[in-house]
Amino acid sequence: MDKIIISPSKYIQGEGALANIGKYVSAFGSKPFSIADDFVMGLTQDTVATSFAADEIPVTFERFNGECSRPEIERLITLAQGVNADVIIGIGGGKTLDTAKAIAFYTKLPVVIVPTIASTDAPTSALAVIYTPEGEFSEYLLFPSNPNMVIMDTAIIAKAPARLIVAGMGDALSTWFEARANMISGKATMAGGAPTRSAQALAKLCYETLLADGLKAKAAVENGVSTQAVENIIEANTYLSGIGFESSGLAGAHAIHNGLTKLEECHHLLHGEKVAFGTLVQLVLENADYEEIQTVIGFCRSVGLPTNLHDMGVKELNHDKLMDVAIASCAEGETIHNMPFTVTAEKVFAAILTAHQLGQ
Ligand SMILES: [Zn+2]
Repeated sequence: MDKIIISPSKYIQGEGALANIGKYVSAFGSKPFSIADDFVMGLTQDTVATSFAADEIPVTFERFNGECSRPEIERLITLAQGVNADVIIGIGGGKTLDTAKAIAFYTKLPVVIVPTIASTDAPTSALAVIYTPEGEFSEYLLFPSNPNMVIMDTAIIAKAPARLIVAGMGDALSTWFEARANMISGKATMAGGAPTRSAQALAKLCYETLLADGLKAKAAVENGVSTQAVENIIEANTYLSGIGFESSGLAGAHAIHNGLTKLEECHHLLHGEKVAFGTLVQLVLENADYEEIQTVIGFCRSVGLPTNLHDMGVKELNHDKLMDVAIASCAEGETIHNMPFTVTAEKVFAAILTAHQLGQ
C-alpha cells in the first residue's frame, strides 16, 4: 500500500488574523462569497468587510440557515453563482464550514475555512457531514482535496465558551492513540493509504501539547484571553489533530464515540467529550500501560473531560444498553477494525465497564 498524507494547502493562525482575510483570500479570487450564521455574522462581518474594502475586493455576505443540508447547500450554490463568485468562504462552527466545503466542491471553486471555535479537528479535513433539514445525520461527503486555506483567529476563538476548546482537546486526545494502533495494524487511513512517519509525528506532538498546555489554556479561555498555551492548544486541536486523524488513522476511540451516540443520556455531550471517554476505553481494550491510562485520566480530570459513564450523564449502568453501544462500535466498516487485533462487541463491552471503573 502507498503511504499518503493530506492537508490543507495553507494554515494560518494568529491573534487578529481575520483582519488580514482580504489579503489572504485575494490569492484565490476577486469575488468572494462568504457564509456565516446570524451570531457569527454579528461577530465578524465588520472585520471581514473592512479587510476586503482595504483591498478593494467586493465581498458578498450570505446568512447560513444553521443546517448543513442538501437544500441549504443548493440554495447557497444558486446565490454564489448569481454573483459570479470565484472563491467560497465559510466562517463559524462545523456545520457552516462543512456547508462552505460542499458549495466549493459542487461549484469547483477554492474554499477558505475560518473556524471561530476549536472544538473539533474537522476544519482542515477533506470531509463534510450532511444532515437532513430536520437535523438528522444523512451522509458523509468525501472531497478529492482539503480546503485551500484555513484561517484561525485566536483572539476570537479564545472568547468562545471554555467548554468548546476543552471538547476540542477531547477530540485531539484520541489522535495519537488511534494513530499508534493504526501504525501497528498498518491499515489504510482516511487519506486512503498507509500512514506516513510525518503524520505519526504530528499525532504524537498533538498528545504532548495537550499534556503540556491543556490546563493552562483552559484557565486562559475561562477569562476570555489568549496566551501562548492557548495558541499551542488551538494548533493541537485543529492542525495537529486534523492531519493526525485523516492521515495517521482512526481506530477504537472514534468507533466507541459512534457507539456512545446510541445512549440517549449522552446526547447533550459534545463530540470531543465522548471521544475522550472513547480514548480511555480504547486504552483498556488494548491493555495499555497502567501509567499511561493514569496519565490520560489525570489529564481529563484536570481540564474537565469525562472519565466515566456517570460523568457523561448515565445514572444507572444498564448492561443491555451498554452492549448495544459495544455492538454499534463494532459495526462493519467501523474504524475499530483498524486496531491491531480482532475486536468483538464482548471485548468492547468489557473495556467500557472497566474504563468506567478506573475513571471513577
Ligand atoms: Zn473526532
